[in-house]
Amino acid sequence: FIIPEFQDFCKDIEEIYWKCKDNTKGKVASYIPQLKRMSANYWGVSICTIDGQRFSVGDVSIPFTIQSCSKPLTYGIALDLLGSEVVHKYVGQEPSGRNFNELILDHNKKPHNPMINAGAIIVCALLKTVVGPEMSLAEKFDFTMNYFERLAGNEDLGFNNAVFLSERECADRNYALGFYMREHKCFPATCKLKECMDFYFQCCSLEASCDQLSVIGSTLANGGICPLSEEKVLKPESVRDVLSLMHSCGMYDYSGQFAFKVGVPTKSGVSGALLVVIPNVMGICLWSPPLDALGNSCRGVQFCEELIKKFNFHRYDNL
Ligand code: GLN
Repeated sequence: FIIPEFQDFCKDIEEIYWKCKDNTKGKVASYIPQLKRMSANYWGVSICTIDGQRFSVGDVSIPFTIQSCSKPLTYGIALDLLGSEVVHKYVGQEPSGRNFNELILDHNKKPHNPMINAGAIIVCALLKTVVGPEMSLAEKFDFTMNYFERLAGNEDLGFNNAVFLSERECADRNYALGFYMREHKCFPATCKLKECMDFYFQCCSLEASCDQLSVIGSTLANGGICPLSEEKVLKPESVRDVLSLMHSCGMYDYSGQFAFKVGVPTKSGVSGALLVVIPNVMGICLWSPPLDALGNSCRGVQFCEELIKKFNFHRYDNL
């Protein structure tokens, strides 16, 4: 086993879980009613190792929308289908140093990276062109959902239509980003902006539980092979790129500090999820809706910091 004393390890995880449960800081996202209604008390931690050992504690079966945790996944699919060189003609690899939805492009007039809204919208546009410009939105949605489900070991994921409709309704900033990028010719030629935005909102509105997202994390930790189904879902070179950018850009404008303190590729989402990948060891999903000022889950971030105090998972431990 990759974690030999798994029972002991789980005890430590549970201890950290309870410690973080007392953390009542942060505010639940309120820009759409469906997220605003989420209880601030939800708190779940799930673990899936690359050899399939699993542990979870708390609210680990309740589905929530994956929001920005979809960004590394759509990026991974685009890399797998198009290759890194093509994808990075359209999107950079640099932390933006700004908010996730900031109206800003880099000095090449490209989005800074695929982990923020601008970059993820472009990745959604790319997926459309690869999969075939003639492909309908419905087919593209099925195709992407199927990929996500294979990453999760063939679990059925959900789609929250109310969240999708609300996202589309309250999306002035995302549309502004879309128009701004179209002005600067950021999109592939065949792209229809409205369809592309819808596809982006749909990816944000996919639902998974903490347990399911931890399996997706373990597939990334395992170089693209799902430990449960043993299916090779993504190429290792795609996963390498995904993890590199999760490491440097995955936590919005906290990414630098997080990479320094925790040193593990992680992506957060506005629903309060953190998708944590410990390469060659395990995937972890942390879910608690209250967010700090930068948009990351308060309990989630605390959990990561406590985890690194206790275990040497930081990229530069073991020197
Ligand atoms: N739906 C959100 C948006 O596009 C997703 C962003 C997030 O999770 N931070 O604004």
